[in-house]
Amino acid sequence: MAATLTARVISRVVKTPDVVQVDFEMVDPAEIRYESGQFIILHTVEQNGKTVKRSYSIASPPDPRRFSLCVKIVGPASRFIANLNLQDQVKFSGPWGMGKFTFPEMTENEIVLLASGTGLSPVMSILQSKLPLHPEKKFRFLWGLKREGDIYNRPELDGLAARHPCFSYQIVLSDAPPEWRGKRGMLSEVLPSEIDSPAGKEFFMAGNGAMIAAVETYLRAHGALPEKIHKEIFFCPPPD
Ligand SMILES: Cc1cc2nc3c(=O)[nH]c(=O)nc-3n(C[C@H](O)[C@H](O)[C@H](O)COP(=O)(O)OP(=O)(O)OC[C@H]3O[C@@H](n4cnc5c(N)ncnc54)[C@H](O)[C@@H]3O)c2cc1C
Repeated sequence: MAATLTARVISRVVKTPDVVQVDFEMVDPAEIRYESGQFIILHTVEQNGKTVKRSYSIASPPDPRRFSLCVKIVGPASRFIANLNLQDQVKFSGPWGMGKFTFPEMTENEIVLLASGTGLSPVMSILQSKLPLHPEKKFRFLWGLKREGDIYNRPELDGLAARHPCFSYQIVLSDAPPEWRGKRGMLSEVLPSEIDSPAGKEFFMAGNGAMIAAVETYLRAHGALPEKIHKEIFFCPPPD
């Protein structure tokens, strides 16, 4: 059975009306080791005498004393996290997912990251920890959201782009207002004009399973190698 760890809430920031970032400090043990791209399984609400356990990608760069989660409020577990108060303690297991969405030792020189919604979490951790280490690589990030009001962490992304000339990002809105000057549509729709040749590039995709499936189909049809496509599926929406 996986060990149960304890952490306490040290900060809570409302990012949008339905996305909250919660920062935790380790209690027991006092330190954990994790890599960017890993996730934890948090023990949340009690339902029918059982603890609801849900996975959350770590949104912060590795720090043995702390980690952050960024959660979209959609149901009981995410609401539990969003309603945590300062000093509240939570139980969890992990970190999990080593080798799945973590940055491999050998990567291609062009890294493309794609996220929908809170799929930003592991991407943010990877960017913060890996950009300083790999100035020789080119990192591109495409972030798909529905509306302008869903955007968060823009100052953080702009800061990374300003500090690291090897990094650029674009926000793609599926329901953009007429005055929106960025990209419009679904990530899979803008991909052909944004990524000239998928072959020889390394891909990291996190968030909505439907987005990931559509993008992967395009990438594989255009020469991306399966082992160069790293995926973290947060959920799969029901078919239309
Ligand atoms: C490896 C992994 C990492 C994850 N990391 C994160 C994370 O960093 N941040 C995060 O917000 N979620 C993350 N999730 C999703 C998370 O585990 C829960 O499924 C989510 O919080 C919903 O749980 P709930 O009990 O609140 O709602 P539920 O009642 O379980 O779900 C309600 C509905 O919301 C949909 N849904 C689930 N997650 C999302 C989401 N992120 N955005 C939009 N719709 C969603 C579900 O498909 C479902 O239809 C991750 C999932 C996995 C497998």
